[in-house]
Amino acid sequence: MNRKTLLAISLLLLLSAAAYAFLPQLLDGEQGEKPQESPVDEYPLDLAERSGRLTILYDNNPYNESLETAWGFSCLVELGDTTILFDTGGEERVLANNIEALEVDVGEIDCLVFSHEHWDHVGGMNAILETNSDVMIYMLDSFPSSVKESATDAGAEVVEVRNATVVCEGVATTGVLGTEIEEQALIINTRNGLVILTGCSHPGVVEIVERAIELTGSEVYLVMGGYHLGDRGDIELLRIVSEMTELGVEKVAPTHCSGEPARRRFRDSYGEDYIEAGVGFSLDF
Ligand SMILES: [Zn+2]
Ligand SMILES: [Zn+2]
Repeated sequence: MNRKTLLAISLLLLLSAAAYAFLPQLLDGEQGEKPQESPVDEYPLDLAERSGRLTILYDNNPYNESLETAWGFSCLVELGDTTILFDTGGEERVLANNIEALEVDVGEIDCLVFSHEHWDHVGGMNAILETNSDVMIYMLDSFPSSVKESATDAGAEVVEVRNATVVCEGVATTGVLGTEIEEQALIINTRNGLVILTGCSHPGVVEIVERAIELTGSEVYLVMGGYHLGDRGDIELLRIVSEMTELGVEKVAPTHCSGEPARRRFRDSYGEDYIEAGVGFSLDF
């Protein structure tokens, strides 16, 4: 082995030792730059009690026979001074037709909240923005820039959500939940307790309810929207139903992607407190 080779080997060893020593710091540094969740001690959120009306504008489950069903979910929340649209379904045409049939005044919508970026929740956005672009859109900061741009190009204002965020008096989003598919849910505080609207519940419907309770310290009145349980076996469904009961969820309205076996299990267990929801269903709170 000549001196040059020896020198090269020593240099390599030195470099790998240095890398090994600094690697944890480098990784820590990267983690430190990631957006951090708000510290839990800022909670509970102090949400005022609101009254108003919920109306499902888009769903693959039927309810009002004069409306069109299609895969996706969208729910209007009317609070008197503020109107929020949670998700917009998948197809602009279907959303626009249902809006017309229900005589919803799109001009009254103040904000859009998107649960997650899947097409069956954001696909109908332009049906709203074409008529009313004077809206604030709450989307996850991880949304593709194409979606953010098409919203701002249309004239809307985009709020990028990471942590729990108050949307208007008495209403907040849970902030980002889940790792594989990030999602947020909408929380409305009512005199009966929290109403939680879910898009697909990819992070788990139980996890969403736990987060809402952690954020507000309030009891849960109703969980409405997609529960995403179509692929679960019966034992797991029974476990989820009992977890929801233990968490004190008073009424359930599993729709969209919840799956028929899950709906059956919730129906059997919740009895009168099971709400058969679908497109056109509306509820005063
Ligand atoms: Zn989804
Ligand atoms: Zn969905």
